[in-house]
Amino acid sequence: MKSREKSLSGSKRAIQGVTEILKPLLEMVYPAICLICDSAQTKNSSPICEQCWEKLETLRLDSKIRLSDILTPESSGTNHAEATTRHDFPIYALGIYQSPLLEMIHEFKYNGFERLGIELSRELIRLKRSSLERLKADALVPVPLHSSALRRRGFNQALTVSDTISRAFEIEVCPMAVSRVKKTKDQTKLSADQRLANISGAFQLNGDFLEGKRVILVDDVITSGATISELARVALLGGASIAGAVTLAVSHRYGERTR
Ligand SMILES: [Zn+2]
Repeated sequence: MKSREKSLSGSKRAIQGVTEILKPLLEMVYPAICLICDSAQTKNSSPICEQCWEKLETLRLDSKIRLSDILTPESSGTNHAEATTRHDFPIYALGIYQSPLLEMIHEFKYNGFERLGIELSRELIRLKRSSLERLKADALVPVPLHSSALRRRGFNQALTVSDTISRAFEIEVCPMAVSRVKKTKDQTKLSADQRLANISGAFQLNGDFLEGKRVILVDDVITSGATISELARVALLGGASIAGAVTLAVSHRYGERTR
């Protein structure tokens, strides 16, 4: 954890500080109705009602997933053979990217409900604890946001998930090991080959944070696998080995295919 503290930049500290100050305010204005289904809530310790939380059960992914199950030649391009053989790794997800998990992630990511992201991350940890322990990783690498997106959103959702996992397993987070140097479009609106072009060359390795480390890559959602595959490629260049990836959701199409 010490090196994680060191690796936080001044600007990131400032952003986190603002988020900390706003948290109690956000909690005060949590609606008495569920954010997802609009039903009245008797206790609003969470912005989501118990029924919606229970629906997450139906979206659970118990089958084992690997990067090679998700990647297609369109989403990994010339990197395909390498990514699906030598650089393949397991992916652990809370569920399929469908309602109500989809809306929960949107509220977390786009509407400032960071605490909801923490609750979802805790649920993921509860379900996948033993699998994650078996990975024997010593660092977490969140998918970085471009500085302009970070300013707009106020926080990096992948870092929120990473921080929650870090606290549960006492693994350090390396948020500065890789930065996003290219402004990319939102991957969810693009086709597989557009995603590949969009993400290619987006990440830059900083220093030797990852040298000799066994890492878990973290993103909020994995759809075509193009982003996580590109992050893996850069982390490997930095001397890391990839233990696996963790995400709140994998795409709808993939979930249906594995059932
Ligand atoms: Zn609800």
